[in-house]
Parts: sequence; C-alpha cells; structure tokens
Amino acid sequence: MEKVKIKLYRIGNLYKEIDFRALEQWNSKIFTFIDDIQTLSIQEDTQGPFWRYLDKQLENIIPKPDNKILSLCIIDHPLEENYYIRRLSDNRVCISIHEIKDILKTEEISLNNYLLRCIYELALVFHSQNSKVPISLYKLAHDENRGCLFDMNAHKENIAKSCNLPILCDECYVKYKAYSVSTEFLDRIRKEIKKINRNLFYIIKAFIQKRPIVSIVLTSLFAIFLNILSSYIFEKIKELFQNIGNVG
Ligand SMILES: [Zn+2]
Repeated sequence: MEKVKIKLYRIGNLYKEIDFRALEQWNSKIFTFIDDIQTLSIQEDTQGPFWRYLDKQLENIIPKPDNKILSLCIIDHPLEENYYIRRLSDNRVCISIHEIKDILKTEEISLNNYLLRCIYELALVFHSQNSKVPISLYKLAHDENRGCLFDMNAHKENIAKSCNLPILCDECYVKYKAYSVSTEFLDRIRKEIKKINRNLFYIIKAFIQKRPIVSIVLTSLFAIFLNILSSYIFEKIKELFQNIGNVG
C-alpha cells in the first residue's frame, strides 16, 4: 500500500497553537510527511472581504509540489468564503485554524486532532483521484453531520464532532470504494482515525463532570487502597530492619 506523500508548510510559526512534533511523529500507513516543515510568510495584505486571503494570494506563496505530492499549508487567518479548507491549483491545499482554534478550545480538543482529521480526508481524496486534488465541480462533503471525515461543517462549530473519534461513514466508504480505493486502504483509515481522540486529561475530566458521585466513590476507594498499601510496605520495611538488627 503506497502512502500519500505530504509536504507541510505553515504561514507564521504557529508553535503556540500546534504541537508540530507530535503531528510529524503521527504513525500512519496512509500518509507520510516528506522533508521538514517549511515556514512561509505573506508580505501583502488581504485582498478579500473581512480580511480574508484569496486563493490566488495563497497560490503565489505556496510552492508547487513535485508530481504525486500533496502540499498542505496551515494558516491562522480567514480564507476565501471563510472556508476552513481551500483546495488550490496544482495539488496545493490550505487549512485554516482561524475560529476553529476557539471552537476546539471550548470543547477541550487539540488542534492536532483537527489537522489530522483534515489530513486523512485530503489523503483519501488525493489517493482516490490518482494523486490529484480536484478543485471544481467535485463535492467532497455531505451536509449531514455524522462525525465523519467528510462532514461539510457549514457551521464551523460542528467541526468538533469529527475531531474526537471521527469516523468514515458507510456512505463515504462505499463512495470511495467505487473510486477503486482498496478495502485495505479504507479499513486502515477507519482503524487509524480511532486514535484521534481527546487526550487522557480531558477524558478523565469529562468522566468526572458526567459522573461526579461515581468519581468520588472511586477516588475514596483508591485512597483507601493507597493507605493499605503504604501500611503494608511500612511493616515490611520495619520487619527487614528488625531482622538486620537481630543478625548484627
Ligand atoms: Zn461520510
């Protein structure tokens, strides 16, 4: 199974928002990042309404990739039509974290989850279209929010649903199978995206918020267990020193 090759760019450093090291180390049989992440900058002001960068402006600064490579650029700025993903010419795509970062912060979901969700979506499209990203007359997403990689998320706040344990819904599975994508590839995506979840801290926090009484009982039981364990260890150490004293 050939992996989709991705060249990653960012506009500005974005270190505060994104854990790039974790992103680059994500283990996948679906895609791989080539080279180091390159940082770009836009010198000119926005040309779109509401301070949005237009596709043509991004196309001027994101380098064209070599054959069979997908170029992904991450930006913290509104894009044309306020979309969060813009497909550009020559296999270039721009993903914006503008507004999304605030939505996910409220939901306590990391931006890395969002980026991975977008990357799996784009990797599948790229793979299914013979290493091309189609631009026009190609509808990627369905309007219904199913927590699927291909949810439209016309209202951006819905994005959170597919950034924690996203799925590839049955309709999309069948659709991409019809594009001659192997079941091995599709099943592998389904397996890997199960790992896109909230981190452990937030899982525990959510559990405590949902079930406070159970949490108190569990915490009390754990405290009692720790108490018994420490008493046992203390007695064993005391015995050990007594035995050493007797031998001496
Ligand atoms: Zn779907």
